[in-house]
Amino acid sequence: MLDNLTQRLSRVVKTMRGEARLTETNTQDMLREVRMALLEADVSLPVVRDFVARVKEKALGQDVVGSLNPGQALVGVVHKELTSLMGGDLGPEASELSLASQPPAVILMAGLQGAGKTTTTGKLAKWLLDGQHVHNGRKTGKKKVLVVSADVYRPAAIEQLKTVATQVQADFLPSDTSSKPEDIARGALDHARRHHYDVLIVDTAGRLGVDEAMMREIRALYDLLHPVETLFVVDAMQGQDAVNVAKAFADALPLTGVVLTKLDGDARGGAALSVRHVTGKPLKFVGVSEKLDGLEPFHPERMAQRVLGMGDIVSLVEQAQKNIDVAEAQKLAAKLKSGNRFDLNDFREQLQQVKKMGDMGSLLEKLPAQFAQAAGQLQTDQATKQLRRQEGILNAMTPAERAKPELLKASRKRRIAAGAGVPVQDVNRLLTQFDQMQGMMKQMKKGGMSKMMRAMGG
Ligand code: GDP
Repeated sequence: MLDNLTQRLSRVVKTMRGEARLTETNTQDMLREVRMALLEADVSLPVVRDFVARVKEKALGQDVVGSLNPGQALVGVVHKELTSLMGGDLGPEASELSLASQPPAVILMAGLQGAGKTTTTGKLAKWLLDGQHVHNGRKTGKKKVLVVSADVYRPAAIEQLKTVATQVQADFLPSDTSSKPEDIARGALDHARRHHYDVLIVDTAGRLGVDEAMMREIRALYDLLHPVETLFVVDAMQGQDAVNVAKAFADALPLTGVVLTKLDGDARGGAALSVRHVTGKPLKFVGVSEKLDGLEPFHPERMAQRVLGMGDIVSLVEQAQKNIDVAEAQKLAAKLKSGNRFDLNDFREQLQQVKKMGDMGSLLEKLPAQFAQAAGQLQTDQATKQLRRQEGILNAMTPAERAKPELLKASRKRRIAAGAGVPVQDVNRLLTQFDQMQGMMKQMKKGGMSKMMRAMGG
């Protein structure tokens, strides 16, 4: 996700950090790089101009020039401005769903055909059913969710919602293509009230382009349902177009938020950066996979960190916590802290934990750029395979060998390679990687991590 943008911006960040003094020239150079990176990511021109102007103004301000480390201070400015551009200035609650109405809280889904409305309806239902919903920083517990489709033009769309609902075990209210969308909505609201649902999600018909009939229809649904959330779903791959469509919807409907889907594809990311600025509405979620657990709440600050190559440690930990064996992780952490040597047994344990955590791609991109690089520039689709191969190699070693990697001379390596069914080079590669990791662990212990965190805070 947003690889190019992250690569370019993290290069800028790295250069800036190294600058002991800020001059007219290196500040201009930096601003030009940032500008190019944003334009290349398909961020719309007025947004880029505005952003660069703000950073420039602050960069020349006393806070930066007068600071001990102007390069770092400047990184802080860029981070802060990027956060606020993506909606950070609205406060952390802006990206939460507000479900605090008399139940059922109605969520109305709007967007063009193919944007991902139905998929997102399923993802949201799952998210609410699983009790992931957060209000004021607290999880509010599992919700009882009903979904319904008001797309009377495409029977396939209703079927699709039924399939998705079945997969996430949400209740699905069948709709009849001969009914009017408003009658379906009225019926669903009534059903949800009588059966004490917490949330009713209404999927609607989209068209290929913005048109008046669609807007009239969804507006009528809005007036009838009084939704607490009207979410506009848009495909990130559409780049600048996504933002234009978002603006058209925001002008016609009182949207409460935007969901940006397909951010896992080769989307350049511009939409994530411009949507708030152009529509005035916060991004609430991003879709990061076709699968129904591929929905992430949007946090401007974390996203800013991610695109600046600083990693998104908080989301990483959250994702990890869902699956990880906490006791094992604590044992490992304690071992590292106590200054004990990190050996191949620990490495193996770590691999096993990583495997449990889930999709490698979405984990790797939350790591700071320099760590992801140290991890060997893994191609995400190959990462899982590589993980399995590495585990095979580690399993072919004896516990004593794992505890004392220096025992691993040529003949042992040959035996291990044969045992794991891989060439000896693979064993060597794993050992090199392990060495790098050991180096990283040492650095982290020396405070590299906390220094990095401080830098992030500006
Ligand atoms: P709708 O017409 O707006 O209801 O769109 P759909 O929900 O049918 O989605 C259109 C296509 O996009 C489907 O093939 C979905 O699997 C896919 N899709 C939706 N969200 C995402 C996402 O976040 N990531 C990826 N990779 N695919 C998605």
